[in-house]
Amino acid sequence: MRLTDLNSAQDIGANCLLAEIGPFNFLIDCGMHPKKLGSAALPRLNNLPPLDYVILTHCHLDHVGALPVVLRKQPHVEVICSPGSALIAKRILRNSVSVMLKQREETNIKDFPLFTYSELDPIEKALRPIPLLSTRTLTGPGGAEIDITLFPAGHVAGAVGCLLEYKHRKIFFTGDVLFRNQETVPAAQFPSGSVDTLVMETTHGATPPLEDVTRESETERLLETINTTIAHGGSVLIPAFAFGRMHEIFTLLDNARRSKKLVKAPIYGSGLGIDLVDYFDQISRKAGFLNFRRQVMNDLEVKPLRQKFVEPGNDLPEKGIYVLSSGMLVENTPAWRVAANLLDHPRNAVCFVGYCDPDTPGGHLLASKRGDAFIFRGLDHVAHIKAQIERFHFSGHAPRNELMDFARQCEPRAIVLTHGDPPAREWFEEELAMELPSTKVTNPQPGQGYQV
Ligand SMILES: [Zn+2]
Ligand SMILES: [Zn+2]
Repeated sequence: MRLTDLNSAQDIGANCLLAEIGPFNFLIDCGMHPKKLGSAALPRLNNLPPLDYVILTHCHLDHVGALPVVLRKQPHVEVICSPGSALIAKRILRNSVSVMLKQREETNIKDFPLFTYSELDPIEKALRPIPLLSTRTLTGPGGAEIDITLFPAGHVAGAVGCLLEYKHRKIFFTGDVLFRNQETVPAAQFPSGSVDTLVMETTHGATPPLEDVTRESETERLLETINTTIAHGGSVLIPAFAFGRMHEIFTLLDNARRSKKLVKAPIYGSGLGIDLVDYFDQISRKAGFLNFRRQVMNDLEVKPLRQKFVEPGNDLPEKGIYVLSSGMLVENTPAWRVAANLLDHPRNAVCFVGYCDPDTPGGHLLASKRGDAFIFRGLDHVAHIKAQIERFHFSGHAPRNELMDFARQCEPRAIVLTHGDPPAREWFEEELAMELPSTKVTNPQPGQGYQV
């Protein structure tokens, strides 16, 4: 097999791997770089060979965001994905077009949007969902055959790892993976046997696992922060990613309320995550491997944000729990706008429940101390932070020791590292050299082909 990483840098960016296996050409994911703008956000798609299939591991934009560009170049290619991803891919891409159009206005980036709304219709026709944990044979050039099996990867709704078997050789792609249960997404169920080549994500390679921090202990701590803040007459802002994390939080709050661990307080929700409620409900009922019910929103009596905001700096008159996108408090999102009302007041709390890039407003706020100034550009407001700022660890990615356990169990002849920043990949290179000395480990340079 020959593998070429088409992401333009060694980072968590525009995930896209070209896998040439026998006569087959596969693209594994086709993402858009979350921190780049215009065509710089695309993977290297200029010299693609004719593809037989694209395999989509899940619908985060860093995996699916450039799919319409590939389909524009090669309109007949089939996109293999999970039934869950097939239900939501078009909706996620539609939102991406809206965001790119907005960014074009704000930054004058001429080559945004990278595709248009009308280019999304062919996506649905190209998607070929296959059931999880069931092997299918794909045919290719000259009647060649290859077996494919998709395995639940935890992480987010619809996420899968992918096993390809060609002439008794097994290649496994983890995609983004979490081996533990979340509120709505069950843990990954990966194959238990050995494989020849393992292509592995490395997101948390540079992050030592936190001692004594579990999903359960973080849930307890979050509920305690909410309950104390509300009891003291404050409001709680939970910035949450629209795709999955918001649904995790609503389900967590619903479970807590049922077991009488959550105080009575109004709950507000807004943003794309609310639009995705029906999709998540549908995925749970039709595709499985997800436990989210639309009913949660009714049971919690989630209210929409009112249209007219109070002046920045003035505290919100309606005290409550605000679960709003975006997770990184990006400018001009509901979470950012509500933060402009909460930060100046000591009774309030902001609870981050996901990763925040250090270059985003969420990252800046997490790096700030009480009393620091926090600028809301475009609102003509400088907040002086008095609210409590807390971070909770609910990552959707496996800690590095659990990825190492999986690598050991696979007994691979070769491992290829993907989806991680350079220090994360270096940690795995060093650790694997010690733990699996006979395994060939490749940390691919962008655009360079490797025989594995
Ligand atoms: Zn992901
Ligand atoms: Zn990813």
